[in-house]
Amino acid sequence: MKFKPQTYRIPDEAMKPFIDPDEIHEFLDRPTPDPDKVRQIIAKSLNKERLSLEETADLLNAEDPELINEIKAGARTLKERIYGNRIVLFAPLYIGNKCVNNCKYCGFRIANTDQIRTTLSDEQMIREVEALEENGQKRLILVYGEHPDYDAEFIANTVRTVYSVKKGNGEIRRVNINAAPLDIEGFRTVKESGIGTYQVFQESYHPDTYKYYHPSGPKSNFEWRLTSLDRAMEGGIDDLGIGALFGLYDWKYEVLALLRHTNHFEAVYNIGPHTISFPRIKAAAGTDVDPKYLVSDEDFVRLIAILRLAVPYTGMILTAREPVSIRQEALTFGVSQIDGGTKLELGSYAEKEQDSQNLNREQFEINDSRSLNEIIDELLDQGYLPSFCTGCYRVGRTGEHFMEFSVPGFIKRYCTPNAMLTLSEYLMDYAPDSTAEKGWKVIEENLQKMEDPGTEKETRIRLERIKNGERDLFF
Ligand code: SAM
Ligand code: SF4
Repeated sequence: MKFKPQTYRIPDEAMKPFIDPDEIHEFLDRPTPDPDKVRQIIAKSLNKERLSLEETADLLNAEDPELINEIKAGARTLKERIYGNRIVLFAPLYIGNKCVNNCKYCGFRIANTDQIRTTLSDEQMIREVEALEENGQKRLILVYGEHPDYDAEFIANTVRTVYSVKKGNGEIRRVNINAAPLDIEGFRTVKESGIGTYQVFQESYHPDTYKYYHPSGPKSNFEWRLTSLDRAMEGGIDDLGIGALFGLYDWKYEVLALLRHTNHFEAVYNIGPHTISFPRIKAAAGTDVDPKYLVSDEDFVRLIAILRLAVPYTGMILTAREPVSIRQEALTFGVSQIDGGTKLELGSYAEKEQDSQNLNREQFEINDSRSLNEIIDELLDQGYLPSFCTGCYRVGRTGEHFMEFSVPGFIKRYCTPNAMLTLSEYLMDYAPDSTAEKGWKVIEENLQKMEDPGTEKETRIRLERIKNGERDLFF
């Protein structure tokens, strides 16, 4: 079944500033909640209800280690109930690192004159995508600096180029974007190229902090960035990713602001963002970051658990910025998407030898340089079901339609079988024997756990078809 695209208008109220720092600070200044209240809030979330700002502030203000453990345990249970054991995999592909902005935390900032500036040519892009396909990737996020060369038409062309590359059984089935905000027309142009999610991170929702870290260039306009995803909606993109860069300001403030941004979407468009990202600042060349607000590992996992409880149905992304140990812990209580086999240096996927990182060619340092297969292998060992699914977006289950499906049963009906089908393609086409053996075992275990005999039977039939050479079968 193909769903009709929705059209959205920006109602006047959407353009009123929806981030009020005083309001957020008032919530955070509330007294420490009593333990029973915190437990009630966790129970509400386990009932799959979205938490209010006030309730989330109570979770943020719970400092008792025992309560923090209960919050993490709650997030773990919720993740199992909603997302099951599947983990969606993707890779970033940096297209160009020219940038006119001066974000003090980023290696691409204009003031960093040591950065080697590159924009992939079509031929380089094709080689990169072929290399990614040969590794088994099916979902990419294209990343760009902000520069007049990277306008909407340019972005749309790069998306079309990526989709056109087919190597063996390889193809990229979903291209997401992380690029500077556009105007409505620009978003429309990019939408027409067939993108999945458009991600724009607000970096900091605290206007004074934002101003300090973005001293010049178009990105210095807080409101233009804050309202960018409203323009994306009006331009027809209803699959949006929000995020904050943790380490610029108080992490508790940023968590509440992410929730406020989510509320804004739900109130105005009746849909929430598809994903939330919470990158933590990493070392980068030529940067100037005040260490005051850097987030400790302990607080970082805590904030992931609180976000999971606050927005039970929003996908959460954790990238290779983080080391393996944090990634593994975060997976247990809330993260639903991770990148694998990540390389940030422009043009480096096509280079077979993995060099050490050169920060003058990259945006920041990564801390998980495992190959895609190593990650899949470990996910399988830990009982996860790695997924390359692109089903929802391909049949138009996005925006309001996606929300309709974000109900009990949806994951079992679509996501789990699609995870098995896409994993089986990976096992057939790319995995070494040892990974394939583990993978088929995990698929069989998951088939046996399926509650609906009809879905199980149909999944088994499609798995056989994939074994017999068919590809791209999904529910
Ligand atoms: N240039 C576009 C923009 O700023 O919106 C695209 C995004 S940028 C290439 C991707 C994201 O990386 C930024 O939004 C920021 O959150 C994050 N980032 C920048 N510098 C970072 C650093 N040193 N450590 C971790 N993440 C960083
Ligand atoms: Fe440019 Fe984006 Fe880096 Fe800022 S975060 S300097 S806009 S690439």
